[in-house]
Amino acid sequence: MKISFLVPAFFLALFVSCAKSVSPLQISCMDTICTINAYDDGSKKLYSQIEKRLEQIDSTFSISNPSSDISKINRLSKSQSLVVSDDTAYVLEVALKTAEISQGAFNPALEELISLWNINSSNPKVPESSLIQKALSCSDWKTIHVNGNTVQVDSDSVKINLGGIAKGFAADEIVEILKTNGVKKAVIDLGGNIYVFGKKSSSLKWNVGAKDPEEPDGDPLIQIKTSETSVVSSGTYERYFVEDSIRYHHIFDPETGYPADKNLTQVTVISRKSIIADVLSTTAFVLGKDKTLELQDVFQKEFSTKIDFIFVEKGNIVSWTENPDIEIITTLRPPCINEGGINQ
Ligand code: AMP
Ligand code: MG
Repeated sequence: MKISFLVPAFFLALFVSCAKSVSPLQISCMDTICTINAYDDGSKKLYSQIEKRLEQIDSTFSISNPSSDISKINRLSKSQSLVVSDDTAYVLEVALKTAEISQGAFNPALEELISLWNINSSNPKVPESSLIQKALSCSDWKTIHVNGNTVQVDSDSVKINLGGIAKGFAADEIVEILKTNGVKKAVIDLGGNIYVFGKKSSSLKWNVGAKDPEEPDGDPLIQIKTSETSVVSSGTYERYFVEDSIRYHHIFDPETGYPADKNLTQVTVISRKSIIADVLSTTAFVLGKDKTLELQDVFQKEFSTKIDFIFVEKGNIVSWTENPDIEIITTLRPPCINEGGINQ
């Protein structure tokens, strides 16, 4: 058993070039590299404000920081409750709503299972199945209650992890700061969790690339030409280890306790709300293509935003939901098959 490849959640490449006043902000935060480019409107003061906000969000959601809201919730006994920040209450509510609609495919109470697999450690191994079952017995997200800013968990053993949604929330918050400060165009890249807005140039749309799951270090498999939107991918190549020639990746199926396998290697979600793109890329990866498409309208109504999906199935078979505002180009190489345009 060996770790053959371990990267931060850094799976989208962006191809843009423009004049800029100061260098884009680049910091290490939320377990990844975050790059924010506000082009001509970028300033040291603005970037410093963004850096502070990112650090604040990181310290709120970090599972390893004992004073984060998440760690405090995880130490609650069932008779206790905790008043959390607006950020935590909001993200937890979106996470719980997604859990409800997806019937637990997205499960914010998966920390026991995630830490059991410990995929980011230097020597990860497949856990014993009895331990997997024990961890699953501590993952009932229905025990988590949010009432305003008060959180209470009806269990002493359920622990939460919001790693599948927090970066999307952070991207939305950065966009808010940029717009409030009059920034006309920007690219926000939080380890591959992308948000673009404004016009790249007078006529050109942004061109966001999604990695080739079979060759993540090579050219992107998919290019998404779009105006303002967020683009977020989840895939088997982000964090994984190999044991007995089997790849074990970091997105778990809460029904089995093992890495999700719905014949997908990547899901990319396109939405103007990055928190939704982030939570649903993880969710869709667990649900699989057919169930995700069945729920597309429900998610759109619940979260009041247009949501598009690009699925990459094993063998690099690419398909996507149609949206006239978004042009999708795949670099198809044999034996890739393009099944584009699911809804038409
Ligand atoms: P992402 O890269 O956004 O798809 O998020 C993956 C991260 O979400 C993992 O590293 C875990 O921390 C967490 N996670 C894994 N499986 C699930 C799941 N089924 N529901 C919620 N969070 C999950
Ligand atoms: Mg996600």
